[in-house]
Amino acid sequence: MAGDVLVIAEHWKGRPEAVTFQLIAKGREIADARRASLGVLVLGHDIGELAADLAGTGVDAVFVVDHRALGNAACGLLAEAAVASLREIAPALTLVGFTLVGMELAPAIATRLGVAAMTNCVNVECVDGEIVVAKPVYDGALHARVIFDRDAPALVALQAGATPTLPQPARAALVRALALDIESMPRRGEIVQFIEEPIGDVDIAKADIIVSAGRGVGDASKLPMIEACAKALGGLMGCSRPLVDQGWLPRERQVGASGKTVTPKIYIACGISGASQHLAGMSGAKMIVAINKDPNAPIFQVAHYGIVGDLFEIVPELTAQAKKS
Ligand SMILES: Cc1cc2nc3c(=O)[nH]c(=O)nc-3n(C[C@H](O)[C@H](O)[C@H](O)COP(=O)(O)OP(=O)(O)OC[C@H]3O[C@@H](n4cnc5c(N)ncnc54)[C@H](O)[C@@H]3O)c2cc1C
Repeated sequence: MAGDVLVIAEHWKGRPEAVTFQLIAKGREIADARRASLGVLVLGHDIGELAADLAGTGVDAVFVVDHRALGNAACGLLAEAAVASLREIAPALTLVGFTLVGMELAPAIATRLGVAAMTNCVNVECVDGEIVVAKPVYDGALHARVIFDRDAPALVALQAGATPTLPQPARAALVRALALDIESMPRRGEIVQFIEEPIGDVDIAKADIIVSAGRGVGDASKLPMIEACAKALGGLMGCSRPLVDQGWLPRERQVGASGKTVTPKIYIACGISGASQHLAGMSGAKMIVAINKDPNAPIFQVAHYGIVGDLFEIVPELTAQAKKS
């Protein structure tokens, strides 16, 4: 598969996570530009059905490693299995999600294989045959463009939600089981329990409109103003992490790398600076509106509409206008 692109699938309870489809869409674009093929690697247990589903997502090949120990494997064993798979498949470019799983997996794979890796990327593309990534630097104030050496294999960890899910026409994909000696691989720990967070009374991941509060609101007593705006627009209130850390809002409202990934039609960020960990959870929104008094706030780099000003003047006005219309 030299020269080709490989996506490492992320899945939960037998279903691919949204980031897997985003990676497949990106992988397809790059594979087509390089006239190469696109494969997806699935590691886990009891994943026959999942592999068959992935075969219909526009990839050319599905590589499957199905073993009981991979059902609850921690990063150590997953990385070993991924490395052994990559040695066999030999892709030129491997894409993983910059998720809680991928954040650990990507560097572990890269160091074992000695390949060049870039994590926390917001884009990856093929420009004149070269692989170019964009990633936030200086806490999101700038995006760096980085070009990989043309002939060296590369690994890119892409933020969830950073690129869209573009459904791909199905191809006649080959499904191939890789025979790896999982038993003899070092485990270095295993997951003993998954504790699911209760969904609670709101699920912001399903909202079409989210009005999110950041540290710029100052204190918890100002949150009803944000919630009133969300309600007037027919949406839900989300927030950045400091508000959860302060105990002002429950974790189910938090947007970002360690919170929820949301892809609403409209995301209004109020007093949120735009740290990369926050952007990781919302940059897939169709329209981003940022309200911030600092014209240099990094959030304006991803916003489609930016309002430089005091949120305490702008949000009530927005609420009033929404109520009128
Ligand atoms: C491992 C890790 C995981 C993380 N996960 C997440 C995550 O999931 N989600 C997340 O959000 N963060 C996460 N963070 C934290 C992240 O790095 C930032 O610290 C956080 O996003 C900042 O939140 P903020 O933008 O609300 O606050 P700040 O960065 O303090 O920004 C406040 C903004 O409000 C503006 N402002 C102030 N007053 C007003 C006003 N009156 N009107 C308008 N604007 C005003 C300021 O100009 C400023 O830009 C994580 C960090 C780490 C290390």
